[in-house]
Amino acid sequence: MILAIPKELGEREKRVALTPETVGKLSDKGLDIRIETAAGMPANYLDETYQEAGASIVSDRNELFSEADILISIQTPPQKDLGQMKAGSILICFLWALQNEETVNLLKEKEITALGMDAIPRISRAQNMDALSSMSSIAGYKAALMGANKLDRYMPMMMTAAGTIAPAKVLVLGAGVAGLQAIATAKRLGAVVEAFDIRPTVKEQVESLGATFVEVPDLDEESETEGGYAKELAEDEQERQRQVIHEHAKKSDIIITTALIPGKPAPLLITKEMVQDMHAGAVIVDLAAEQGGNCELTEAGTTQSINEVNIVGPLNIPSMLAYHASQMYSKNMMALLNHLLEDGEPTFDFEDEITLNTTITHQGEIISPMLKNN
Ligand code: NAD
Repeated sequence: MILAIPKELGEREKRVALTPETVGKLSDKGLDIRIETAAGMPANYLDETYQEAGASIVSDRNELFSEADILISIQTPPQKDLGQMKAGSILICFLWALQNEETVNLLKEKEITALGMDAIPRISRAQNMDALSSMSSIAGYKAALMGANKLDRYMPMMMTAAGTIAPAKVLVLGAGVAGLQAIATAKRLGAVVEAFDIRPTVKEQVESLGATFVEVPDLDEESETEGGYAKELAEDEQERQRQVIHEHAKKSDIIITTALIPGKPAPLLITKEMVQDMHAGAVIVDLAAEQGGNCELTEAGTTQSINEVNIVGPLNIPSMLAYHASQMYSKNMMALLNHLLEDGEPTFDFEDEITLNTTITHQGEIISPMLKNN
């Protein structure tokens, strides 16, 4: 069974799908692992380390794709490469199937079995495969560092001979995986942290990290789907939320926004007027930049200064910590492979919730209930 890892071609992409440590563990299970020349280099994993772990280095990309039984990557490879894959082979990567109909059709026509790392269900049993959580956690951590780095003030309280310095005030909007890690990191840096999320269950988690939960009165208690994701707020609730955030934004040094609603544009939480009322030198780090932004003024991929407020709209943050992001993704990938492989052969049991939800196409059919019900 040939397992292949190509070099990532995406702009800003420095991660690699398998690290040498995981290659070693999978080689021991009898897999023939092939990796494209210098695929790990951007994340500081060297070809010789892969070789020592048991992988062969392949310089011909076409050969890598055409001979693979299982091909794993971070981002979906370009269609030209997918066109080289043989019928019955398996592709595992972030597929974002709902947004990539053309690619899904190609995979179906070519009878490639495609699994989406973004489609792994958020259930306890699949926690060790949950690459979305791994990457969100990195994004939250880095967002707090980016905010601190851009700020012209200290984060912690300082008692110095030149007087006492007050700690920075950080407001985190959206306390899912990324938001909670942003809170934890800002707290470790010594800031005073407040956070808000529309899911009431989050309050306890926010408080357990030592942050204060911001209350917005009269929000619908049923703001959470069965899968634990947020529902879109009604227009009057959104307006009430913005009024509360406005008051807290005026006093904040850093705002980190992470709010997302699956399948919808990112909710607008910070308006132009709120930015105008923030103090000079304040920083907004908008982790939802890729999905349209939680701040009205965010421009994805840029840092701007508007009314002396710095608005950072970062893209592909996990790639900025490529070494550990690759390590975490690689471990998530290995857990999924272990779930699928029986005596070294992939098996697809669609009675199993993880396999069913993660498999997008198989033998020329759409399997994913998410796609079928869309
Ligand atoms: P996400 O990235 O989809 O959204 C980020 C956060 O934004 C969420 O907490 C959401 O409630 C919040 N949000 C949405 N609209 C908002 C608004 N208008 N104002 C403020 N906040 C808003 O979420 P995620 O981090 O991927 O987590 C989604 C869910 O999955 C959570 O319930 C999480 O606990 C759960 N989860 C479970 C597991 C597991 O059990 N294995 C693993 C990971 C995540």
